[in-house]
Amino acid sequence: MKAWIVYYYDNEWCNLVHAETKGKACAYIRDAIDVGLDFLDFRAIRIPELDNKPITYNNAAESGFFYRDEFSNGKRVAPEESFINDCRCKICKQK
Ligand SMILES: [Zn+2]
Repeated sequence: MKAWIVYYYDNEWCNLVHAETKGKACAYIRDAIDVGLDFLDFRAIRIPELDNKPITYNNAAESGFFYRDEFSNGKRVAPEESFINDCRCKICKQK
């Protein structure tokens, strides 16, 4: 399964997900946070290093993805306990 970083609101917010296509990745995240949001405000880019791997804090860090939270000010990587995986694919469920 392909891994994607889905961005919303000009990169202020993003999330990781597995999906077969870019459109499915955006739709999944949109539906997970708020189905009323405009699909066109989402965009997804590939993160091949997470293909077929559970989306965990360590796997994400190893793939070069720097997870941030609202306290990070774009600098500090968020602590492991604030890492959230919204992906419900088979691979992520197995972890
Ligand atoms: Zn997944």
